[in-house]
Amino acid sequence: MYELEEKIRQLQQWVDESERIVFFGGAGVSTESGVPDFRSVDGLYHQKYDDPPETILSHTYFSRKTEAFYRFYRDKLLPRGAQPNDAHKKLAELEQAGKLTAVVTQNIDGLHQKAGSRNVLELHGSVLRNYCQRCHRFFGVEAIEQSQGVPKCECGGIIKPDVVLYEEALDDTVTYQAVEHIRKADMLIIGGTSLVVYPAAGLVNYYNGHRLVLINLQPTPYDRYADLTINEKIGQVFRQIHV
Ligand SMILES: [Zn+2]
Repeated sequence: MYELEEKIRQLQQWVDESERIVFFGGAGVSTESGVPDFRSVDGLYHQKYDDPPETILSHTYFSRKTEAFYRFYRDKLLPRGAQPNDAHKKLAELEQAGKLTAVVTQNIDGLHQKAGSRNVLELHGSVLRNYCQRCHRFFGVEAIEQSQGVPKCECGGIIKPDVVLYEEALDDTVTYQAVEHIRKADMLIIGGTSLVVYPAAGLVNYYNGHRLVLINLQPTPYDRYADLTINEKIGQVFRQIHV
């Protein structure tokens, strides 16, 4: 455990010294809030679904099998009362203290904003925003939660979540902002992601500094590029950091 204490001390020192921290996070940030990784497939999954998650969450599947898409979506992607954990809260505090410029996230659950973070760059969109495909009217998450089958607008159009599905392109503006923040960062903390999911690895390459921290329970292929690697639960790590 001594090694872990040393690493936390190093992390704290860099946090203290940095002024433009950027956090880049993935599914592991939200698992401690009880939001399961939708990619996890077990025996129960195969009883309920015939297709893998990546197929169901594709643009083609949404267009052709909208009802089946929404069955999976309501079951697996809605955060349903999940609350921010210590990682979300500490990142919000770092931003309020003027030390963190952006949270870049692959998550779509809105938990960073719920914790108080303001500049959150959601690479894959958010389940909290939904739009009518015909008249573009906005709907909150409750429109999806409280409806059954295919959610529809009063105009008759189908409501689609503002979530980047497989086969769909990322939002250029959000990606550009993420690149700019990472490029100017004096510290980059990557957490809760194995970094194998596009575009995570590509974005990390824009970081120029010498405080690249990787916090992930399991080792990742990028551990050797990091200046500091902590294989721990991310909430437990941030709980020990003081702003
Ligand atoms: Zn409409």
